[in-house]
Amino acid sequence: MTQPPNRQTQLNKPLSAEFLNRLTNIVGEENMIISGSRLKRNSQDAYWYSPVLKKQLADKSADVIVEPQTQQQLIDVISVTVDERFPIVPRGAGTGNYGQSIPIYGGVLISTKKLNQIVELTPDCAKVEAGVILLDIETEARKIGAELRFFPSTLPTSTAAGFLAGGSAGPGSMNWGNVWTPGNILEVKIVTIEADPQTIILTDPTDMQTVIHNCGLTAMITEVTYALAPHQPWQQYVLAFDSFESALDAGERFAKDGQLPTRLVSIFDWPLPLFFKQLVKAGACPDGKPLVFLLTTAKVEEIQKLAAAEGGEVTWHNRIANVHKSNLELTDFAWNHTTLWAMKADPAWTYLQDTFDPENYRAHLRLRKAKYGDDVIDHVEFTGAGGGPCTAYPAGLTIVRYRSDEQLQEMIDYGESIGIMQYSPHTTVLDEPNTRWEYKHLLEAKKVWDPHNLLNPGHLQNND
Ligand SMILES: Cc1cc2nc3c(=O)[nH]c(=O)nc-3n(C[C@H](O)[C@H](O)[C@H](O)COP(=O)(O)OP(=O)(O)OC[C@H]3O[C@@H](n4cnc5c(N)ncnc54)[C@H](O)[C@@H]3O)c2cc1C
Repeated sequence: MTQPPNRQTQLNKPLSAEFLNRLTNIVGEENMIISGSRLKRNSQDAYWYSPVLKKQLADKSADVIVEPQTQQQLIDVISVTVDERFPIVPRGAGTGNYGQSIPIYGGVLISTKKLNQIVELTPDCAKVEAGVILLDIETEARKIGAELRFFPSTLPTSTAAGFLAGGSAGPGSMNWGNVWTPGNILEVKIVTIEADPQTIILTDPTDMQTVIHNCGLTAMITEVTYALAPHQPWQQYVLAFDSFESALDAGERFAKDGQLPTRLVSIFDWPLPLFFKQLVKAGACPDGKPLVFLLTTAKVEEIQKLAAAEGGEVTWHNRIANVHKSNLELTDFAWNHTTLWAMKADPAWTYLQDTFDPENYRAHLRLRKAKYGDDVIDHVEFTGAGGGPCTAYPAGLTIVRYRSDEQLQEMIDYGESIGIMQYSPHTTVLDEPNTRWEYKHLLEAKKVWDPHNLLNPGHLQNND
């Protein structure tokens, strides 16, 4: 008797010429990539941030990439792909760090690149198609006196749906929290993964949690409405300190000062500033000194005074006239861009994602530094729970030297053992304790919206 094919055989089945024809009839040949280096390149994300994932994912690729130009085309692509039971992987700009948009089992990668219309823009909110680049929202919002509440440091490249599904926080988060903080996302339009796909509009904050930070696993997002904030005349500052402790003192003071409107407080231990080549050239990084980056509306005289009170000095200052039109944007060096600069300087660097106990984190950082010495360089970002500076707390995107998979895991375990919560970026499996990813409600939604279990397979050990 013939056995039914197992799931892995089903997922890995080759595409037929007939199926490719069906896709071509929907989007046209010019909106498909079926071979060559473009297929490989556009199948990958920033998984190489992790030396562990670099080994696991280097050979993964979609069998075909489709770039629908309209939401109807996207629905039709889903319909025929479900009909033929091939895996579907959603993708924005592919800047995710954990291989979340890499087709582990091949199949059809749906790029939202050409779904790039701003549907509606008011001073309070931006309703946009999935593939709209965040910088385009920021630029258009500025014209009407508004701005994004917060954004990832990949602002110039990442997409509206990609940040919603794959990202979490960034500059601005110390006031507004992250993508799952109620009030930041006002509406999400999704399409289900069925042969007869349904379009559903989610507005209830609890319902929206089933697609926010879902890593492309529950449904295809076609539109997002981001709440906006009133635009502020932000100024950029780099401050240098004699010790990491003084930099932390100053950073914490800036982050929690309710009187000083602030969008970014980042703290870097030496030698991290050495890796910020353009800032070194601009004279912002004095030898041996830990730095604080600050985006605030305060005038230079005020910041100079506050820095001096903590034993520091302002080493660089620049008004952001037009976002991403100036030569140097501090946000290009902060959040997870810091890791990129470290890796450019030496590919042996990688990173950890730390959540600290705000009362005891300094002692925890000292302990870890004492154990690992120069294999750890501290990088702290202030983020928040969405209630302004009073909720700001420190989190770590700590730079660590990779020596082996085992040593990296040992560092993660050690962090946990001393009270530094770890959200490991070194696994593609999301429902495992190391990632601390909230997934149970997502699995429930997936059962309903992706009944054939075709969306982004390979990331859920409880489901694949
Ligand atoms: C240099 C660098 C700096 C970074 N800095 C930050 C940072 O400051 N903060 C932060 O949070 N992240 C950061 N990241 C991670 C990443 O940039 C963000 O997660 C980004 O917002 C992802 O957007 P994207 O368009 O590239 O999404 P992609 O990488 O294409 O996708 C991310 C996830 O979303 C899913 N997805 C994409 N589109 C859809 C859709 N339409 N429907 C359903 N699922 C979808 C994908 O399947 C995938 O699981 C950084 C990454 C790099 C490389």
